[in-house]
Formats: sequence, C-alpha cells, structure tokens
Amino acid sequence: MKGAASLGLTLSATAQQAFEIYTCELMEWSARLNLTGHRGRREIEIFHYLDSLSLFQTGHLTPGRKVLDVGTGAGFPGLPLRIAQPLLRVTLIEASRKKAVFLRHLLRSLGIEDVAVVTGRAEDHAREPSAAYDIVLSRAVAGMEKVCAWSAPLLREGGLFLFQKSRGVAEELRSIRAALAADGLSVREVLSLEVPYLARPRSVVIIEKTRV
Ligand code: SAM
Repeated sequence: MKGAASLGLTLSATAQQAFEIYTCELMEWSARLNLTGHRGRREIEIFHYLDSLSLFQTGHLTPGRKVLDVGTGAGFPGLPLRIAQPLLRVTLIEASRKKAVFLRHLLRSLGIEDVAVVTGRAEDHAREPSAAYDIVLSRAVAGMEKVCAWSAPLLREGGLFLFQKSRGVAEELRSIRAALAADGLSVREVLSLEVPYLARPRSVVIIEKTRV
C-alpha cells in the first residue's frame, strides 16, 4: 500500500493481499451498511488503513501485546494493525450487531482466526473485569472520559489507552484530568503523528492506568 513505507512499515505479501480483500468487502458491504464515510479505494487506504497504522509510531504496539479496540465499527484501528503485525493479540468490541456480523464475515474472508469479535457495549463487557489488556484503542467513538470509564477495568495496571484525536485535545484533557486521577488514570503523553497524505498531523493521547 502506497504510504506504508513512510510510516516505517514493510507490509508482507499476505498483508498487502489482506488489505485488498478488506477494501473489496468494505465497498461491497457499504452499500447495505454505513461502514465507511469514504467510498473510494484510495480514501479508504488513507483515512482508514494509514490512519490506523500510524499508531505504530507510538512504539507501544509491539508483538504479543493484548489489544482491545472499543467501538471498532468496520475494524478501525484494530484490524489494520493486526494485519500489519500478526503477532498482536486483538479483540474488537462493537455495539452494532450488523457491524459485528460484517466483522466476522470479513475475518473469515481474510482467513484470520485469532481476532475475537465481541458484540455489545464496552461498558457491559467491562462488568466482569479481568484486567487482561495491555492496550485499549478507540477512534471516533466517544469522549475520552467515557471510554476510560467503560474500559479501565479491562486494562492491566501499567496498561495504556491510545486515543486518536483530530482537535480539541488540550481542552478535553483539562476538563477530565481530575476524573481520570480519581480512577487511577494519568495522561502519560500527547504525541503528534504524521499520517501520509493527510495535511494535518493527528494527535494521539496516551493515558496510563497507574493503579487498579
Ligand atoms: N472506530 C471506528 C472508526 O474509527 O472507523 C468506528 C467509529 S464509529 C463513528 C463509532 C462506533 O462505535 C459505532 O460503530 C458504534 O456502534 C460503536 N460504539 C458506540 N458506543 C459503543 C460502546 N459503548 N461499546 C461498543 N461500541 C460502541
């Protein structure tokens, strides 16, 4: 995929083929489900795949990490990350039953058996806390305070939330810092990441669970 190399990624032939299949399935299913606001092949690559893959620049998505993608929709950002790095252990959670059906179909088409799809709301899933995950991802789902409240029980001590944000980060952080602290969470850093072909850099907010 054009642009992956500028993120420092070398995609295997299997990964390249997986992204081709992903695009075909997205385009076919988008006629029935509102899966992507971007219809063209290249737009899907830039706004969904490259934007998701830009998270590798944080240095936290290393082989073996257990990752939960909350409100994954059509699989973003968790599935592109797993396609590019097959040793990530990824779970996708999605409230919409129809989208979850799409995701299971997509995983069968891709021949990927080690990605779990959970249908339901993250806050219900978190009622049985297992502190199992190293990393929780969430893109374009809800404010950071909400996603943290839903998912913090699922994160291990020292685990990280990675939030991709386009704007308003400083204000949002000012308004939630106290609530985060009360839940044993603290903002570790805010990174500005380049996404190939996008004019504006993306912010990634990294929040750490400092105590259980
Ligand atoms: N993360 C994807 C992306 O960036 O393309 C999807 C974004 S879409 C705007 C938000 C998704 O989050 C929807 O598919 C919605 O069903 C899901 N969602 C919203 N609240 C949720 C919750 N509490 N638990 C799980 N999924 C949720």
